Amino acid sequence: MSSRISYAFFFVFLLLAGALGALYYVKGEWNPPTLSVTPDQSTAGASTVFTVTAADADSGLRLLHVTATQNGNTIDIVKKDLPEGTRDLTETFSLPKSISNGAVTLAVTVKDASWHRLGHGNRADFKRDMTVDSKPPVVSVLSGQHNVNQGGTGLLVYSTDEELGKSGVRMGKHFFPGYPYQPGKYLCFFAIPYNADVKALTPALVASDLAGNEVSIGFFFNPRVKAFKHDSINVSDNFLQSKMGQFTQYYPDQTQPIDIFLKVNSELRAKNVGYLLQLGRDTVPQKLWDGPFIRLPNSAPMAGFADNRTYMHGGQAVDNQTHLGVDLASLAASPVPAGNTGRVVLAEFMGIYGNVVVLDHGFGVQSLYSHLSEIHVHKGETVQRGQIIGKTGATGMAGGDHLHFGMLVSGLEVQPIEWWDPHWIKDNITSKLQ
Ligand SMILES: [Zn+2]
Repeated sequence: MSSRISYAFFFVFLLLAGALGALYYVKGEWNPPTLSVTPDQSTAGASTVFTVTAADADSGLRLLHVTATQNGNTIDIVKKDLPEGTRDLTETFSLPKSISNGAVTLAVTVKDASWHRLGHGNRADFKRDMTVDSKPPVVSVLSGQHNVNQGGTGLLVYSTDEELGKSGVRMGKHFFPGYPYQPGKYLCFFAIPYNADVKALTPALVASDLAGNEVSIGFFFNPRVKAFKHDSINVSDNFLQSKMGQFTQYYPDQTQPIDIFLKVNSELRAKNVGYLLQLGRDTVPQKLWDGPFIRLPNSAPMAGFADNRTYMHGGQAVDNQTHLGVDLASLAASPVPAGNTGRVVLAEFMGIYGNVVVLDHGFGVQSLYSHLSEIHVHKGETVQRGQIIGKTGATGMAGGDHLHFGMLVSGLEVQPIEWWDPHWIKDNITSKLQ
């Protein structure tokens, strides 16, 4: 062999080695993939859905392997090769049916496409020892009678053999959350919405344990149908001229006062009611209140709960809405006492309610004070029963100085009269909590 040929071979060898080295440099990175598994809990059931999230920005993901090990047997739940160039991965899985109640070890491994580790790639591992529970909780209703008025409130007390993740009363399309009350005991304030088809209601206590096993049971329920008043309200030009200015901020494109009124009375009202539903979750699992709620002293009722109102303008019916509180009139700028001890969860101007204060009394029970001329409390503050929280006024959608008082159960407006009545409170609440 001539030396010229061996030089040529050597040159080709150098080229190949260089190409391989460059390829190895690109394909052979040392960064392991990222890996996380949710939910982060040590108990799981048949309905628990786990989510694996993994990523590898360099060479990409190559393999996902999920196993469950119980009593020395390892079962593959997911084992798959991933297509080249997979940078991100989200995969869901549940435990296989062959896994029985008891201890199990969940293991997840992902590997990337790096050529390192003799072509096995970089890996990330996740391991968790868990308890499998596929048995629903055993729930017993402890409270006996549930005589509930349409638009009114009921209280359910129940016990359970294990800790609950979520529980409460399902009433039509509404769900009222329950809260832990004493060891092994829960309670739930619920309501019949004023506009419910009462005869068709079949409320249920729904409870699920920490592993997500759910049970739904009925309970003794005696609903009482109530008829509500119908009322007609004249929307005068005078009213529109004096009141609509405060709402132009919400509807800058509307120029006619009656158009602003119609927007405010329907759209803004619905938005405000929706906000109160959310605010109902801002509650503490504690009964902060005691005794009947205080009614504005020396006041006359002007409008009732769930009055159906037709709004007249220029001799024509222009709107129809339901009034979800009680209007109480006293002297102008009368001091307004807190109905009961609670926590201020809202103290600001809010749409149709004007200057409004909402107090949380715990377990989802809240009271509302609207159209105030002055607010004397701040969000987050604790107020005592009878403490002055502001003064009556006519802010928001109010024709004259009065207090619009509301009671809410998990954000849904309910009949306030019940909460002023010491007999109703004793029969329907305190007697069930002893
Ligand atoms: Zn009112």
